[in-house]
Amino acid sequence: MSRILKTKKNLVTMAFGGSHKGIDIVGHGYSLDDIIAHSDGIVVDCKNTYKACDEKTGASYGNFVELDHGQGYHTIYAHMKAGSVAVTKGQFVKKGTVLGYMWNSGRSNGKHLHFEVKKDGVKIDPTSYIDSDLPLLVKPSERKYVLKTAVAGYMNANNAKKHIQQVATYQAGEYYIFCESQGMLNITKTQGVAGAWINPNDNVENEYINIPPTLETCRVYRLDQVPVASNECGKLAPKQYGGLSYKVLKKRSEKVVEIHTNSFGRVQIYVGTENGLSITKQPLYTTQYDKG
Ligand SMILES: [Zn+2]
Repeated sequence: MSRILKTKKNLVTMAFGGSHKGIDIVGHGYSLDDIIAHSDGIVVDCKNTYKACDEKTGASYGNFVELDHGQGYHTIYAHMKAGSVAVTKGQFVKKGTVLGYMWNSGRSNGKHLHFEVKKDGVKIDPTSYIDSDLPLLVKPSERKYVLKTAVAGYMNANNAKKHIQQVATYQAGEYYIFCESQGMLNITKTQGVAGAWINPNDNVENEYINIPPTLETCRVYRLDQVPVASNECGKLAPKQYGGLSYKVLKKRSEKVVEIHTNSFGRVQIYVGTENGLSITKQPLYTTQYDKG
């Protein structure tokens, strides 16, 4: 049995050992086959454009896919057919997902799959894992991540960065970190099984500064100016709009926060509680208008 070929049957044509840090496999009866993901994982690298068996490029893997399964384990599937690689970098794949088609791209003498398993960057003998699970350890001390607020989950790290293509919602709570990429986190409730990607910047409880309608105006300051009278870059008009609320983007101190206004862009504002300004978890007033 094979869990890396679609037909589930394989023939080993070259074993692991010496300078050969992987295992060579063809389909049953020397047939070619679709190559499938050994386990749930994240595509951390792949190539899909090497047209031929070409040693001169130095690209010995040819077209390949490398998956990160967490806890230091990676699997690599090499020599695939150009254009057949069906996954992209950053994508999360489930066990059994078709990755590409067996071929002889890269440094290869014939059409086959060169399969590798790495643990913490070291290539280990993959023979016993062809039809069994990777030895992922279940340690209660594995890295966890506490979500303070509900956040969106995305297909890949790039999507999480750009806040596009949401695929899941995570409620506040404790999660395992499956892996990290580009400053984004893949979090999961089931250790060793990938979840979706989140943007850690989303994991902050929102706060709002509220400016009451009792104030005619309220000064705001450029980020590079000391927030004292005469340094202001503009004035908001809370009275005119029945009070104004803004999301707190950053707390410079207990009394000075950064906000984004439609009229003046990103500015700092003094939290004058003596004038009735307040900071709350929910906005007290409209956030639509702010022209000063
Ligand atoms: Zn090989």
